[in-house]
Amino acid sequence: MQYSRETESRKLLRRLRDTLAEDTASQTRLDHITSLIADSMQTEVCSIYLFRDDDTLELCATEGLKAEAVHKTRLRIGEGLVGRVARTKHIVNTADAPSERYFRYMPETGEEIYSSFLGLPIQRLGGTLGVLVVQSKQSRQFSDDEVYALEVVAMVLAEMTELGAFVGEDTALTALHQQPVMFRGATGQEGVAEGNVYLHEPRVVVTNPVADDPESETVRLREAVDTLRLSVDDMLSSLGKADKDQRDVLEAYRMFANSRGWMRRMEEDISSGLSAEAAVEKEQSIARARMATVPDPYMRERLHDLDDLSNRLLRILTGQGKETGAEMPDNPILIARNIGPGELLDYGKNLKGIVLEQGSVGSHAAVVARAWAIPLVIHARGITTEALNGDPILVDGDQGVVHLRPEENVAKAFRDKIAMQEEAVKLYTGLVDKPATTLDGKRINMHMNAGLMADLPSLASSGAEGVGLFRTELQFLIRNSVPRRGELASLYGRVMDAAKGKRVAFRTLDIGSDKVLPYMKSQDEPNPAMGWRAIRVGLDKRGVMRMQLQALIRAAAGRPLTIMFPFIAQFEEFREARAMVDAEMENEKRLGHALPSEVEVGAMLETPSLAFAPDRFFQETDFISIGGNDLKQFFFAADRENERVRRRYDTLNVSFLSFIRQIVARCEEHNTPVSFCGEDAGRPLEAVAFSAVGLRTLSMRPASIGPVKSVLRRVNLDEVLAEIDAAAERGEQSVRAALTDYLKRQDVIV
Ligand code: PEP
Ligand code: MG
Repeated sequence: MQYSRETESRKLLRRLRDTLAEDTASQTRLDHITSLIADSMQTEVCSIYLFRDDDTLELCATEGLKAEAVHKTRLRIGEGLVGRVARTKHIVNTADAPSERYFRYMPETGEEIYSSFLGLPIQRLGGTLGVLVVQSKQSRQFSDDEVYALEVVAMVLAEMTELGAFVGEDTALTALHQQPVMFRGATGQEGVAEGNVYLHEPRVVVTNPVADDPESETVRLREAVDTLRLSVDDMLSSLGKADKDQRDVLEAYRMFANSRGWMRRMEEDISSGLSAEAAVEKEQSIARARMATVPDPYMRERLHDLDDLSNRLLRILTGQGKETGAEMPDNPILIARNIGPGELLDYGKNLKGIVLEQGSVGSHAAVVARAWAIPLVIHARGITTEALNGDPILVDGDQGVVHLRPEENVAKAFRDKIAMQEEAVKLYTGLVDKPATTLDGKRINMHMNAGLMADLPSLASSGAEGVGLFRTELQFLIRNSVPRRGELASLYGRVMDAAKGKRVAFRTLDIGSDKVLPYMKSQDEPNPAMGWRAIRVGLDKRGVMRMQLQALIRAAAGRPLTIMFPFIAQFEEFREARAMVDAEMENEKRLGHALPSEVEVGAMLETPSLAFAPDRFFQETDFISIGGNDLKQFFFAADRENERVRRRYDTLNVSFLSFIRQIVARCEEHNTPVSFCGEDAGRPLEAVAFSAVGLRTLSMRPASIGPVKSVLRRVNLDEVLAEIDAAAERGEQSVRAALTDYLKRQDVIV
């Protein structure tokens, strides 16, 4: 058979579209569609299989197979040729289906008499919705033109499925975006929340997959691509020379936007009867499917760029911007591919949780989520295509799991968990004014970490005795340009006001590594975590650090001021930084500004080298704060951002604890106050171990103060130390098991 691609295809698509307009039950519509396709393709059989649940396909309509098999024949993903198409997302085109390795005989369908088989995935944006099959008795391979025509049909079916054309009360058809779906990601921030989906970038809805006039569609597409090119050029020219990463991405955009192949494929799709939007989606779907299988990370990135570019093109074509006017639902849970801290802060504190397809534990979004104490799940792949605005959703930040449109029993179990946590919070509220004093009378000072003005109310509600770490970089990260000295001075002043005399340790700007300022020249470093970051930047580019020190000094005016420098790796760096504080004090004095009543200057110990600094360092620094997040990554040489290795080494590893103990001993020898402000301080078991090896001040996120205090008040640190020593003596790698046992014996559950 000679299949005349364009005319036949267009005729078929128009007839398919007409079925959409018919006021019939969805089953009737599907039946009609299968007979239209069989007729147009001149095959004896056409069948549509749709997903009934995550891994079961159901025959939902057929022309040619036995009618009794409809809604009876089911295949698991991977089972039979149909299941194979669904699994691999690849076309199966064979002249002799029964002799194929994956063929599975389904007696109820009567399909054994059909020799040739062509099956294609019905997919939309990389997600497979079902499988479309044509079969015929004559043993032959289907031609490229026929395959292409059926691909176009599958695309239209996908759009129709998305528009809900096949969902009806009387059928068991897959109702898209209505089934419960679970996503397994990773923990970005602990906590649990129940709420409703709020999409950062709502999906573009294509309501017209089929078009009558290919010429005008081609013109629309070309105009939209021109607009797209111009916008990419605009973005490129507005970039500073320095934004290398962004420039690379935009250059890739430009390459795709000018790609003849991409344009040609879309124009071919249009001449087969698709609308411009559907043509863009068809190519986008193919790129997404490829993205899932391409092993080369560079190629995957490029396919990702193409995906982003297609979204932009769709927005231009449909006129659907980011602002779709969707109202924020009650208890909003934000869903995004990724998000920057500025955009996140714009949503405000009423978000109940965040779920990202990408993201990382150390990302700025994670820092904000932590500050807001709301759960964050990262790496929830596919959620932005599955979730719809307003969908009910449960976020379990503890397990890194998300339940979208949960079954009632899942929701109920989840609510029980929330209730238990609320009970625990009540228990902790009773401890707010009580000291963290252990059974053997040792007093641990509980401080909190902060970074936003919005964190300060937690000082009173958590019972924190001060702010052990104020991460000043957040103010820099959420802006488009360097904040002015006056702004910073006023913010720091307000932070001190809100602290009502409690000590706030302001850490000077810690940027570089993963924290890249949008307006700062980004460095192309092979290993940014060990690169030009934190104090290294501060000492090399003194302008910003001087400005920050001036702002701090002015904010304090008459009050005590605490400054700490991040990432000090050797004594000399601390000396230089401290000299800058002294110089700024002198300067301010000369200018006649009120000075702080006293100034404490400390160093963060985040690199192992500093633990071995000369005695003079310990004598000259006013205090030391152990930045365990960084210290641990360098101690174990395990990147804190890399999911593969991040959890590989236990904080309660005997070697790490012994290292902390040595640091404490050196500080004690010189009467240098020492605290610990990494994330581990907020974990009860770790906090107990740190206290046992001598730390007396811990700084953590406010929500951890209650749980940590409650455990500390029920342990005897001498006994804990004995357990640690005994475990080390026995040659155990980690003291976790020994400590867990000890706490169990004490009837303490962590
Ligand atoms: C740390 O490294 O432990 C720390 C507190 O600093 P940050 O997490 O901001 O790098
Ligand atoms: Mg650090």
